[in-house]
Amino acid sequence: AAKQRNSGAVTYIPEIDKSSQQSLSLLSELRAALDHNAFRLYVQPKVELGTGRVIAVEALVRWIHPERGFIFPDQFIPFAEQTGFIRLLTRWVLEQAATMCSEWEARGLHLKMSVNLSTRDLLDQDLPNKFADILARHKISPESFCLEITESAIMDDPVRAQQTLERLHVMGVDLSIDDFGTGYSSLAYLKSLPVDELKIDKSFVLKMEQDLDDAKIVRSTIDLGHNMGLRVVAEGVENKDVMQLLREMGCDQAQGYYISKPMPAEHLQEWVMKWVP
Ligand code: C2E
Ligand code: CA
Ligand code: CA
Ligand code: CA
Repeated sequence: AAKQRNSGAVTYIPEIDKSSQQSLSLLSELRAALDHNAFRLYVQPKVELGTGRVIAVEALVRWIHPERGFIFPDQFIPFAEQTGFIRLLTRWVLEQAATMCSEWEARGLHLKMSVNLSTRDLLDQDLPNKFADILARHKISPESFCLEITESAIMDDPVRAQQTLERLHVMGVDLSIDDFGTGYSSLAYLKSLPVDELKIDKSFVLKMEQDLDDAKIVRSTIDLGHNMGLRVVAEGVENKDVMQLLREMGCDQAQGYYISKPMPAEHLQEWVMKWVP
């Protein structure tokens, strides 16, 4: 029989190897974080290149851990996806994002809110109904939301992903292909999925003012997107030269540290009021 030792919320059972024991404790920590409001909604502004106005934001989650402090999503999102915890987290993010959206609306700030979805979310048959319910409760129109999806999330189960995306799209929500250009078969999605936006991956944007190949890829992607009738957003804009190049290339929106790093959602309105295009 297993000798049991209590270490916080996790019961240690010797048969379980060290790594799965760590997984169990991470999962229980994530659950506790949700219960104790330890996640924070950060947002990063997106600027319309033609006018310089802030017209949208992307929701990016952070975890404020009681001992380990500030934790970036790359350190827990992959695990949350593997374990299915992401479904709970996505619901939390959608709820918070809708709350912020309706607060901004009430104060006259109209912004499109982008939220990231993962593989598991696309396989969640309940997601469209739950999302519709959140929007209705906060009296937000679906047109105020955009859902960002990566190619790898779609690849996992293209048939079910397509069903979920079509249900979301008929609601009136925008769909965006995130990290565009980093997958294997990006182009096929443009043909078959109800997409509204392309987000050029930051790996092509970061050094495009120095690297001619990157600049060519970015320019071609903008043209491709526009030829397909899509809005094109560049992420990873870190300096003025890149911002200017993107504007010259006719890119629709820019997002990146040059404009602002992600900030707590409660700080956004003040930031927008100080923003000078
Ligand atoms: P992503 O969706 O590609 O988000 C963009 C990432 O690039 C963010 O990292 C953002 O802070 C970062 N970034 C923005 N501008 C710049 C820039 O100018 N330079 C550089 N070097 N980086 C920039 P973050 O917030 O650490 O998020 C990392 C990833 O975690 C996201 O990548 C997304 O895949 C995932 N993620 C974050 N929040 C959520 C969420 O609520 N749900 C899901 N499913 N995934 C999330
Ligand atoms: Ca994204
Ligand atoms: Ca991205
Ligand atoms: Ca990414």
